[in-house]
This record gives sequence, structure tokens and C-alpha cells, in this order.
Amino acid sequence: MASASDTPPDPTPGTVHHAVDLADGFAVPGFDAVARLAAHSLRVPVVSLVLATGSAYWFSDDARSPHAPQALHPRYLAAARHGEPQVVPDTEADERFGGGPPLTDPRTASMRFFASAPVYTLSGQHVGALCVMDHAPRTGLSSKERDDLRDAAALAGTGLVLGSYLGRTDPVTQLPHRNAFFEDLRARQRGGAHRAWLIAIDVAPVNRFNAFVRAMGHAYADELMRDAAARIQVWMPEHTHLYQVGVHRFAAVLPEASGAVDGARMDELVHRLRQPFDCLGIPLTIQPGVGLLDLDVGELDGGGDPLRLVMSASHAAHHNVRGWSIYEPAHDERHRQEFFLVTELAAALNDRTELTLHYQPRVELATGRCVAVEALARWHHPTLGPIPPDRFIALAEQAGLMRTLSGWVLDHAIAQLGAWQRAGLALKLSLNVSGSDLGGELVEHLRSTASRHGVALDALELEFTESILLEHSDTTREHLAAIRALGIGIAIDDFGTGYSNLAALRQMPATSLKIDQSFVRAMEDSRHDGAIVRAMTELARELGFRVVVEGVETAGIYAAVRGMACDEAQGFHIARPMPAGELPGWLARRNTGPR
Ligand code: C2E
Ligand code: MG
Ligand code: MG
Repeated sequence: MASASDTPPDPTPGTVHHAVDLADGFAVPGFDAVARLAAHSLRVPVVSLVLATGSAYWFSDDARSPHAPQALHPRYLAAARHGEPQVVPDTEADERFGGGPPLTDPRTASMRFFASAPVYTLSGQHVGALCVMDHAPRTGLSSKERDDLRDAAALAGTGLVLGSYLGRTDPVTQLPHRNAFFEDLRARQRGGAHRAWLIAIDVAPVNRFNAFVRAMGHAYADELMRDAAARIQVWMPEHTHLYQVGVHRFAAVLPEASGAVDGARMDELVHRLRQPFDCLGIPLTIQPGVGLLDLDVGELDGGGDPLRLVMSASHAAHHNVRGWSIYEPAHDERHRQEFFLVTELAAALNDRTELTLHYQPRVELATGRCVAVEALARWHHPTLGPIPPDRFIALAEQAGLMRTLSGWVLDHAIAQLGAWQRAGLALKLSLNVSGSDLGGELVEHLRSTASRHGVALDALELEFTESILLEHSDTTREHLAAIRALGIGIAIDDFGTGYSNLAALRQMPATSLKIDQSFVRAMEDSRHDGAIVRAMTELARELGFRVVVEGVETAGIYAAVRGMACDEAQGFHIARPMPAGELPGWLARRNTGPR
């Protein structure tokens, strides 16, 4: 629905002008000045700025012309997306206009002449077109008029219009952003709307998205966001807007009556987003979370932030099968708790009595002996009890606490290994690190800590998750090579869950590969997974990696992996992660007792 502009009334008598957006009526101050200039020099009654995103800003200075079109004729969009200047002397005679009027609004059927010039941002990005129209056909544009139109388009691009437009718009996706979302929501409230569905769409959980940006770079992430926005827009009901309200998050307001919000439609949206993306030639599957909130628009001023509420629903939806969920107070509670947890985690890292390490044995399949242990962080919160690592590691990542946490783990685990080695236990130690630990002090920290505790560097191994492989960057490889150069092993953790390809694998200076437990655990009741584990193992061995299988939960699986080319196994069947104090006893029983 078109509505009038919020800009102050024009001082020139007799001029009617509107800057409108076709769906919701957000105004673009400054556009009017450019439009008036163009109207004057080209002697046209109607000027519009049409953006490639589908928004249009409209200016008309006579009573016969539409104040605003009801819908955008595809021709305008085509012109906006085209990038070439166009002159259509008579739209009724021009087949590109399908023989019809340029606008679907019947009042505008008399618009016969059409010309447009592309609009570029300061950075040279093509964003739309400045279009002029007249009631009567014309023979064309004089060269001066062409120049004027081009100049007006340039003016529109270099600030006057886009200055304010970009002030509301995300530069990557060209979508209106968070402030625009709230302005428009308020405009809707003033317009007398009562209820609406608020929808928030998270492309991926934040830690996964961050890991992904680190691995693939910003250009790839930008491309992904544009592709995701395009998929969502295909799904959106007519005359609704998509907003970019966060780095990896979109939102929209859907009229209650739009029929957009039923289970099947929501499933369809999630289904679209779960299809693999092909960004810059690299395939990727995302983990979308879509949240919905039934909003009482009239109550907007009652405090509370509807966007935060709907975001807590989208947050929860990442982890449910359907991928979407309707807001419930419990979501918000969980969201709040996470914010609470972040501060608590920061405190725990300072105080350090709540954090401990458990160690899980890794056994060599050929001999059955325990050759190494993996250090796993544990957090016992004084009132909330134990917090699972999957949860607090993600929080640490999100809150920028990862290096502090890893530093703490490294210090404690290496000190412990030194103590064990001095007590005569021949063990190696593997430590989980995240991509954000790379660079900085890591190498020096490892070297000095190991030397302080008398631990040989080749007794250490760092486990990186597979996402690090995605980083084809030379810096990553250099960091990993520097770690390898110290003699420290590098393992690729959770192998098989990510997106790594063979080429990336070959280039990594890794020494071992840990096959993800999801494949291993399912082995007993699925021949298929057995085949996958076998194939992965053979492949990894061929590439020169040592192969560790995780998630060995039963004697059956243990026997099965012994029959494969695996080197080591880890899992509940062998031992659960245990406090440091229990390990020597366990080792004594394991390495001497029957197996
Ligand atoms: P991970 O590195 O893949 O560690 C193995 C996880 O699988 C551990 O979960 C372990 O308890 C569990 N596990 C081992 N054997 C079995 C089995 O047979 N069956 C099943 N169902 N699970 C098994 P945990 O300790 O909850 O840790 C989860 C993840 O959290 C770890 O996965 C690791 O990615 C991360 N993490 C834990 N501690 C640290 C740390 O100090 N630093 C970093 N960066 N990440 C850590
Ligand atoms: Mg691990
Ligand atoms: Mg793992």
C-alpha cells in the first residue's frame, strides 16, 4: 500500500510530490530535490527512482499524474536492474512494455514516454535507475536532455538521495536495516494496524556464522547473505519488506491476513533456505532458524523489544527439526540466560575455581594401550550446575572469550601432563582449540608453557574442527605450519561433519584425522555408516593421516573399527572423560588388566 511521504511539504506552490515506497511508505528526504530538477529540465511530470531491490520513490508534479503507483510495473524493475540508459519514445508502441501501459495503475494509462538512466553508489555499485515519464509520446531525448538525465541520476547516486537511502540500508544486501524496521513498524502503528506477524530469520547460529566468516572471508559471507535474502524474498508475500536487522539476520512484518504464516508456508521457507547454496563456486549448507511473534502493533509503546523476542524464537529454532518456531516466553528466558551466562563465564575465567578439565583416554587399536588423552573443559556453575561444553564453548566464541579460555586450558592441561610424565606415565595430550585461537600468542604460549613444565612439544596435539579447513587462506596455513614446525601434532576434529574437500585436506599440515562420532555411533545399526567410516579411514590413511575414531560406545563398534585401518579409538566403551585424579588408576587397570 502506498502512502504519503513524511518529508515536509514542498514550498513551491502547485507542486504535488511524493516520495513513496510501494509497500510501506518510507520517505527518502532529498529525493524530491533531484526529482524536481529532472522534471524541470526534461519537462516531464513524473520522475521516479526505482531500486533494484524493488523499492520505488515517486515524484509527480501535476494533478493528472499518479501520486503513487499501486504496484510496480515489471518494466521499471527491469530498467532498475538493467544498468543501461533507456529511451522508450512511445510505450504503447514498444514491445518491451508488452504493448501495455508502464504502470498497472489504471490512472496512469496515459504514461506514454519513458526514459531511464542507471544510478550508481559512490563505490560504483549499480543500485537502480532514475526514470522519467510523460503523458504524451516523444520522439526521444535531445543530447542535452540525455546529459541532464544522466546528471540527475548521478546526483541521486552521489549522496542526495542515496545518502539518506543508505542511512537506512544495509550496504551488502541493499535491504533496509534495523532502524528502518522500527521506523516502518511505527508508521504501521500510526496507520492503525492492529496485529501482525513479526518474523526473524537467522541464517546460522552466531558461533557457526563467525567460524564461517573466519574460514571463508567476508566477501563470501556477503555473497551468502545476498543469496539468502534473494531466497527469502521469493517466498515473501507481495508488498512486504525484508529488513536486515543483524549481520546474519533478517526480519519482516507480515500482515496478519497475508496467509503467509501457516505451517506449510513456514516449512517451505525453511526448506528453501536449507537447500545448498553455491556462493562463488563453493557449496555450503546453512542452519537457518526462523522465529515468529504474533505482535499486537497497538502495544508497541508498552516497552519491550519485539525484535528481541522474535529473535529468541529464531535462536531456539536453529536446533529444532522444523527449523522454525513461534515465540514462547521460555525462548526469551533461554536467551536471557545466555546473556547471563556470558557474564558468568567471564567471571569464571577470572576466578577459575568453577572450571576444571576432564581427560578422555585414546587407545591404540593395535595394542589396546592408552597412548593419549584429550583434555575436555568442564564448567560447574554454583547455582546452575554443570553447563555442557557445547554450550559454553559457543558462548565463549560469541563473546570473544575464546583465547582466554583456551589459554587457561592449555596452561592447566600441559601442567598436568608434565606431572603425569614425571610420575612415569608415557602419555600424549590433545587439546581442543578454535580457529580464533590461531595467530597471536598461541605458538609462543605453547612453546613456553611446555618448556616450563618439561613437556616435549611432540607430546602435544591440537584439535581443530573441520571448519578451519575451509580457510584456504595462506595465513591459516602459515599458522598451522608454525605449530607443526614446533613438532606439535595437528588433528582435524569431527571430520565428516563439515564441508572439507580432498584438495583442502591435502594442503593442510595436519597429522591426524578424527572421524566424527555421529558416523561411528550409528555404525552398529547401519551398514551404510560402516561403509562411510571404512571409506573415510582408507582415504585418510592414503593421504598420510593417522586415523582416530571417536564415539566408540560399544564392544561391537570397537571390534568393527579394529578390523579397519584405524589407528586409535576413543569413546564411552573405552572410558568416559574423567577428572585428572582418576586417570592413573584407570591406566593401571587398563594397561595391565585383560582386554
Ligand atoms: P570433541 O572435541 O569432539 O570431544 C569429544 C566429545 O565427545 C566430548 O564431549 C566427549 O565427552 C564426547 N564423547 C566421547 N566419547 C563419546 C561416546 O562414545 N559417545 C558419546 N555420545 N560422546 C562421546 P564434551 O566433553 O561434551 O565436549 C563437547 C565438545 O566441546 C568437544 O567435542 C569440543 O569440540 C568442545 N570442547 C570441550 N572442551 C573444549 C576446550 O577446552 N576447548 C575447546 N575449544 N573446545 C572444547
Ligand atoms: Mg576434540
Ligand atoms: Mg570430536
